[in-house]
Amino acid sequence: MAEKYWQKEIETASREEIKAIQSERLKKTVKHVFENVEPYRKRMEEAGLTPDDIQGVEDLYKLPFTVKQDLRDYYPYGLFAVPTKDVVRLHASSGTTGKQIVVGYTQNDLDVWDDIAARQLCAVGADENDFVHVSYGYGLFTGGFGLHGGATKLGATAIPVSSGNTDRQVTILQDFGSTVLCCTPSYAMYIGETLKKKGVDPKTLSLKAGIFGAEPWTEEMRQQIEELLDIKAYDVYGLTEIMGPCVSYECSQQAGMHVNEDHFIIETINPDTGEVIPNGEVGELVFTCITKECCPFIRYRTRDIGVVNTEPCACGRTFVRMSKPMGRSDDMLIIRGVNVFPSQIETVLLKMGYSPNYKIYVDRVNNTDTLDVHVEMNEDMFSDTIGVIKANEEKLEAELRSLLGISANVKLVAPNSIERSMGKAVRVEDKRKLLGGKK
Ligand code: ADP
Ligand code: ZN
Repeated sequence: MAEKYWQKEIETASREEIKAIQSERLKKTVKHVFENVEPYRKRMEEAGLTPDDIQGVEDLYKLPFTVKQDLRDYYPYGLFAVPTKDVVRLHASSGTTGKQIVVGYTQNDLDVWDDIAARQLCAVGADENDFVHVSYGYGLFTGGFGLHGGATKLGATAIPVSSGNTDRQVTILQDFGSTVLCCTPSYAMYIGETLKKKGVDPKTLSLKAGIFGAEPWTEEMRQQIEELLDIKAYDVYGLTEIMGPCVSYECSQQAGMHVNEDHFIIETINPDTGEVIPNGEVGELVFTCITKECCPFIRYRTRDIGVVNTEPCACGRTFVRMSKPMGRSDDMLIIRGVNVFPSQIETVLLKMGYSPNYKIYVDRVNNTDTLDVHVEMNEDMFSDTIGVIKANEEKLEAELRSLLGISANVKLVAPNSIERSMGKAVRVEDKRKLLGGKK
């Protein structure tokens, strides 16, 4: 099947053209924030900078970072670069990591967002004949409206189901002939499990692709979802502060997400020192908005840990690709001094044939950190004897020890006993934090 693009010219532009566009737009944006956002002007002045010091992307590193706390300090509208009369929409983060933050969009900002979401839909093979089933939440969370706007702009048929009421999701998949499903990967799993429980063969549905993001997920989970729903599953990345979903988008190659570089400049930094590190090395991802009017954040530190890949992609797109973020730096658990990402645990569980229904409990007992992982048994294991279950728990513990370098207690629990999520899954309960102890 021929590769589909939404804006082919820019999506396949030469690297020189992309760099020239970025430089031009960066200069304009820096001037815009300097003139219209007092905290930005002050910060630049403190750093001894005027807009003239930024002549192109090569000068980006000179500019101060923006962090989530800034959005909290100037909450709600202190970082907006346009008067509120020009703001046509507000969104807020889902508040996974603390007090919510709010961002605004001008009509132009929304048009850009629709375009980048349409790029994502085309990249997974969708066109005006498709039925786009949006099960991300509609509301202040950006997920629902983001994909909805893209589907509408593309001329496909948007089905704004929103999240929840999973039985109804199944009915709509069946009756309305949804071809592309958009939701969090954990909700996709849940929808898949519900189909199975209801005895609905996914082959009888019209679904062909899924666009899943808003939370970390592993390659192993991608395989499970593809089998369960009989579709191709694609990754999508975004965050409220920068735009919402589709800041970067996966293509037919399913090998990393192309960053919409005509709208956002990506950098990787060392999270401890703030130094820029070369592409290809793991670090914290930083984005600069270069076309936004209302909230053009400069060098926004995402706290997401990932890698930027500049290798050409077989799909023909020339935008660089970012890896699946392996998690947020603030999701990283430090257990007995060892850094552990929940996604590493997920990889082990799925490789060993379990479902991604698990919960991680961290605690501190007698001054020692403890790590407990509850994992659902598969239906066929459920009838096993206690001895067999124990042996399986030990197998998992050995595997986790060899990958993480620390020991964990594994408990296999009954199928369907771990709470399912319709939005972002909550996989970790760190009781040390609840007690106000060290993270
Ligand atoms: P909140 O910060 O309240 O969760 P957002 O909806 O803005 O609100 O979440 C954005 C964050 O979600 C990103 O910074 C990243 O950590 C995570 N995220 C989004 N898409 C993905 C993805 N495809 N893979 C991994 N993490 C993702
Ligand atoms: Zn590609």
